[in-house]
Amino acid sequence: MPKFEYAPAPESRAIVSLRESYGLFINGEFTPSADGRAFKTISPATEEVLAEVAEASPADVDRAVAAARRAYERTWSVLPARERGKYLFRIARIIQERSRELAVLESLDNGKPIRESRDVDIPLVAAHFFYHAGWADKLEYAGYGPAPKPLGVAGQVIPWNFPLLMLAWKIAPALACGNTVVLKPAETTPLTALTFAEICQQADLPPGVVNILTGAGDTGKALVTHPGIDKVAFTGSTEVGKEIARDCAPTRKKVTLELGGKAANIVFEDAPVDQAVEGIVNGIFFNQGHVCCAGSRLLVQESVYDQVLASLQRRLATLRLGDPLDKNTDVGAINSAAQLAKIRELSEVGEAEGAQRWSPPCELPVKGFWFPPTVFTGVSQAHRIAREEIFGPVLSVLTFRTPAEAVEKANNTPYGLSAGVWTDKGSRILWMAARLRAGVVWANTFNKFDPSSPFGGYKESGYGREGGRHGLEAYLDV
Ligand code: NDP
Repeated sequence: MPKFEYAPAPESRAIVSLRESYGLFINGEFTPSADGRAFKTISPATEEVLAEVAEASPADVDRAVAAARRAYERTWSVLPARERGKYLFRIARIIQERSRELAVLESLDNGKPIRESRDVDIPLVAAHFFYHAGWADKLEYAGYGPAPKPLGVAGQVIPWNFPLLMLAWKIAPALACGNTVVLKPAETTPLTALTFAEICQQADLPPGVVNILTGAGDTGKALVTHPGIDKVAFTGSTEVGKEIARDCAPTRKKVTLELGGKAANIVFEDAPVDQAVEGIVNGIFFNQGHVCCAGSRLLVQESVYDQVLASLQRRLATLRLGDPLDKNTDVGAINSAAQLAKIRELSEVGEAEGAQRWSPPCELPVKGFWFPPTVFTGVSQAHRIAREEIFGPVLSVLTFRTPAEAVEKANNTPYGLSAGVWTDKGSRILWMAARLRAGVVWANTFNKFDPSSPFGGYKESGYGREGGRHGLEAYLDV
């Protein structure tokens, strides 16, 4: 099928004014790290250095935790709940006002298409703050008793796939419930979190309520193991999640973990094929597949396998890969060289284990980190590409004959974060949803998020929920 030629439609970078270097955000101010260490953050699409960022040492973690404790005791926990809500509302409004700047910055630092950062990430970030602004003075109606209390200081560590959105998922409920926070963004995507620190200043948020510590895994470890923290919230790999669970087990810290996934996207023979194909594409190629709840395992009923596969391949041939700042781009850059190496390695394992690899004709830019949309067929349950989280634009296709077999295969994974069901029959959706061991089950759609809807996993996908009434529990002493 011929591809339309589109004229380039780049979003201007002029709206972002990058500083040469950024400090840590502690007690309402930007400050250098105690030992002066710093690292560079780059654009994964071009490998251009964007800025230098301070690397927080254990001494900085001490300072930030102390600032958060002071702010908790003297200001935030004693502020009338309605006033807390006003701050959150103000932050949400500023995010909306600065949404274009934030979207461009997110795409620059992360490599995701501007269409996604502009239309999905940033609107959801604002929505999370608006939603939790509403909860701040209504906590007694949340179902956790007549006067639920905050926990204290939360240490929060987030990944690089949705940098500002994961920050919002962590900070908005924590603040609404009356906690103060120290947050560490991922090493490869610190810039929107630092801009969020500016937004806290702009909103006149009392110093110390939000502290942002940039750094690598060691900074994250120093934060979650710090004795001054009451609550740990982590999103990232299952491996690091397990380490954090072990570190926190002998303490009184309350922990929530949102970890990996290997979701099944299940297409029945009575599904509207064109819509299902759009859902499959959105399920695994949205955000380059860097999505914990990505529909990375496609389970297709055998009777429609040929039809679905042909439609999917036709559709994939129309995806546009390239400059994340171009408004026509569907697939952006892989976030880092390390992640690209992991995707390549697992894809090679897929071939070596006997699965068939297919990608549409697709020219990859010379500079930066890129991987074409890829589909593996002939995949069996035992293959590593059917079991392990690839966290990239790679789909493994399996088939099934009966609903019971679909359930069996979908649940045959150590993970349990999400699943998708495509069928014309409402009764089948309910039957499947009752049997799928997944925190979220989407019906005739995929990758839909809303601040009022709780999100979280079973099994090795972690514990605790984020969003909705359920998500408040993670930040209340209940
Ligand atoms: P990590 O789990 O290592 O990173 C998540 C966050 O934790 C980052 O901020 C990281 O810092 C920090 N961190 C790393 N080690 C520790 C530690 N010991 N204690 C506390 N915090 C720590 O994920 P990676 O970025 O290394 O990605 C590895 C794989 O994890 C991916 O290939 C993907 O499969 C999976 N992943 C899953 C995610 C999900 O949402 N399910 C999200 C991200 C990754 P730093 O950035 O400096 O390493």
